[in-house]
Parts: sequence; structure tokens; C-alpha cells
Amino acid sequence: MNLALWLHRAGLADADRPALGYGARVLRNYGEVASRVARLAGALRQRFGLKAGDRVAIAAANSPDYVEVLYAIWHAGLAAVPVNAKLHGAEFGYILENSGARVCFASRALEGQIAPHAPNTLERLIAIGGAEYERLLAADPVPVAECAPDDLAWLFYTSGTTGRPKGAMLTHKVLAAASHAYLAEVDNVLPGDPILHAAPMSHGSGLYIMPHVMRRGVNVVAESGGFEPEEIFEQFRVWPRTSMFAAPTMVKRLVECPADCPSENIRTIVWGGAPMYVEDARKALDRFGPRLAQIYGLGESPMTITTLSKQDIADRDHPRWLERLSSAGRAYACVEVMVADEQDRELPVGDAGEILCRGDVVMAGYWRNPEASAATLKGGFLHTGDIGAFDAEGYLTLKDRSKDMIISGGSNVYPREVEEVLLKHAGVREASVIGRPDREWGEVVVAYVVGDAPPAELDALCLSAIARFKRPKDYVFVEALPKNNYGKILKTELREYDETLKR
Ligand code: AMP
Repeated sequence: MNLALWLHRAGLADADRPALGYGARVLRNYGEVASRVARLAGALRQRFGLKAGDRVAIAAANSPDYVEVLYAIWHAGLAAVPVNAKLHGAEFGYILENSGARVCFASRALEGQIAPHAPNTLERLIAIGGAEYERLLAADPVPVAECAPDDLAWLFYTSGTTGRPKGAMLTHKVLAAASHAYLAEVDNVLPGDPILHAAPMSHGSGLYIMPHVMRRGVNVVAESGGFEPEEIFEQFRVWPRTSMFAAPTMVKRLVECPADCPSENIRTIVWGGAPMYVEDARKALDRFGPRLAQIYGLGESPMTITTLSKQDIADRDHPRWLERLSSAGRAYACVEVMVADEQDRELPVGDAGEILCRGDVVMAGYWRNPEASAATLKGGFLHTGDIGAFDAEGYLTLKDRSKDMIISGGSNVYPREVEEVLLKHAGVREASVIGRPDREWGEVVVAYVVGDAPPAELDALCLSAIARFKRPKDYVFVEALPKNNYGKILKTELREYDETLKR
């Protein structure tokens, strides 16, 4: 089953229904989008000679055209490689090379940044909305390609403990199951219901494009393409029954924005991807009413491990309301979830251990990385690297991330990647990067450095090699880093020490 069939069918039966919204207006209906997608797919297959399973990257900021490009890739039987638009040129280069993408669609603003880093395997870099893109839309349409359920649909780039991004292979079956799960357990979508994409479509928000196409909702992008609270509220005003996926830091910014908000126009604000302070969840509930839901998942099981329903979040009279509010909810119907010890044995209720899961929503493995696939999918269960505990009623509370990943403003930062850049400076003998809790960003990146490098030079070094949001916000110079007998740096001790600093 090819995911593109949902759009194709909408084009046949609901041609006049709005499909894409841009700012305050309807940009295209389902008939137009289905026709443009069939032509773009025709260009990919016939003009570029791409074959079933070939990868096509999308390195773009949010836009309505993003939806068209994604569907054209699937319509043509190809696999999409959505790439975070905030990455550095070299990071784009790595993902393009690792995925073996033959074609990359890029925002016009990113084209110049990507071109110098394009690997030899990349045959074409096409600016979305540019002259060549328009010519592709004049190609002859092709029928939707046949796909097996296990065919690759989306290579979802995440990072592993090695710090290098890995491509989680999400098949048509995985994304279809995740779409059904969303509609059944998070947010019911009726024809014409809008979803506002304010978080990146290359990540969490993009996963909600498909259920909205399945139900003939409207995929909407604000004109800024990003997250501006005032603009978001304006979108709510003009698009009744809007849903939106937001990182907890985004929800917090909405709560703090003084703009007048017509809450009744909000269908659901789904938060996830990082922990939310209970106090912040309460404030969001005060402001928006019973319109909030939470999801917990990761790229390898895209947003589909547990969910805390709108009813649970709003049920203030329940005796365990606060406990539930601080949890990540209950397992989705489509997935087995277990908390296990180091030997993968299930732990009793209340005990904390690694969260494992199994089901149709779990990735097929990592792209061209059999070792990492075998380790992460050991025994048929996805090993999330997250530590959590179930309560007696099946609510899962997340305790910590076993990986030392930092989540700053909803974006992931892998310490090792930053450490490697810092260590390039001659004045840095050792470096260890941790996350420091922060009310505004969730966490901020902090670098512990042994050496005498000027912070301004370290900043410049980071800006030359990695995305801006990964740059440390603070440098702490120390005599030595805490280490164990094997010489491994003890980040837990470092974090404890960091808490004692007077800031
Ligand atoms: P990613 O693969 O980039 O989506 O990052 C996934 C990680 O984000 C998970 O392994 C968790 O550590 C964290 N995460 C996702 N959802 C939640 C949530 N609802 N609450 C707390 N942490 C979360």
C-alpha cells in the first residue's frame, strides 16, 4: 500500500476540498494538488530516470510545497529524506552522502548553502518554487507506483551515541500505522479540519501531514514558515478547528504571549518530543482549556509509544490528576511497551528501566547500518534509550534519557558532536558538553572545558562547523573533568556540579 494513494483518492472524490493553506488563504484544493503531484512524480521517474526505492532529499523550511514534494516522491515509488532545515552545510552534505540521495529539493534560501557540500552521488539540486521546479510540474503525469508495505517511505535522520546521524527506516506500513494511531487516540480529524505546521515538517509536525490527507483535512503553513506566537494566534483566528504539534517550549511561548486567543478555534495542541514541566502544563490548560494532548515517541517509533489524552490532561478532579499530568500517558493500542532491566527482562510496576517497544509502528532498522540496527532492535524490541517506569494503571513516567542527548528549544543536540568541534581548538585539552535546565529553552548547551581558549574563539569555531542552536551558551573552565576508573567522563557528576554553580 503506497501512502500516496490517500492523496490520489482525495483528488478523485474530493477535488474541490481545500488541501493546502498558506497564511490566511486556501492555496490549492485536493484536485490541484493530486494533479501537480502526479506530474512532479512523472518528472522524477521519466525525466530524471529515478527507480523504485531511490532516495530523494527535502532540505527545506516549512511551506505548502513541502507537502507536494513529499507526496510526489511517494507517488513515484521513491523514498523521501527530509532534512532539518537548520543544519550546517557540512551536516546537509553528510546526510545527502549517507542516504545516497540522487535528487535534493531545497528551499531557495538553502540552495547556496547546500551546493558546496553536495556529494558526487547527488545528481540534481532543485530549488522549490524556482524555474526548474515549475518546468517539472509540466511533465506528463504517472499513475501511483505500486509499493509493498515494507518499502521505504521516509529516512528519518536522528543521531546515535556515536554522534553521527543515523537514518531510521520508516516504511509505508510504519507511517500508515502511525497515522491510524494518531486519528484513533490523539486527535480525530474531520474533512476540512486544518493542521498548522509551526514545528519543522522534517520532524514531528511532518508526521501529521498524512493523517490529515487521509481524512481530507487542510495542511496549513503560516507565511513566516516558522514559529511566531502572534502569527500562530492569527492563524487560529482565521482557521477554526486548527490542530498543531508543538515542542513544550513552543507551548510555553504561546502561553506567555499576551495576544488575544480564540481558544474555541483550537481543536488540539499536541505536545511532545521533550519533557514539559507540570507547572507549564497547568498554565497551558488554564489558557487553552481541554485542548491539549501529549505524545511520547522517537524517530525510530515516530511519535507512537505512549499518549496522554485530552481527557486525562483536563480531568482536574481525578485524584491522581497531577501524577498523570507529569507522565507521558498510556501505551498506544498499536504497540507493546515494556520497561526492562539490562537483560531485557520486564520489570515490575514502579521500577525504572529502559523503555522498549514492539509493533507495526517501529522502524525497519537503520539505513546501511546493520550493527546499530541489531543493537537497537535486539530481541525484536526497539530499545529507546529512555528510562521510565509504569504505574499500576499503565501510565508511563519518563525519568531520564540514558543517552546524554540535550533538547534545547525542541531541537536535539548531541554532546559529542559539539565536543569534537571544541577539541579542534589548540587551547582546548578536554571538553565535555551537558544540558543545563532552562525555563525558556528546556535545556541550554553548556561546555566544560579544560584549557584556556577564549570563549569568542570557541563560538566562532562552532559557528563554522555546526548549526547555530548547538553552540554552547556557557563555557565553564575547570582544572579537570570528573572521570571513572576507565577514564570515562562522568556526566552525571558534571551535571550535579553544574547545579551547584551560582548563576
Ligand atoms: P527524536 O527521535 O528526535 O524525536 O527524540 C526522541 C527523544 O525525545 C525520546 O527518546 C525522548 O527522550 C524525548 N521525548 C520524546 N517525547 C517526549 C515526551 N513526551 N516527554 C519527554 N521526553 C520526550
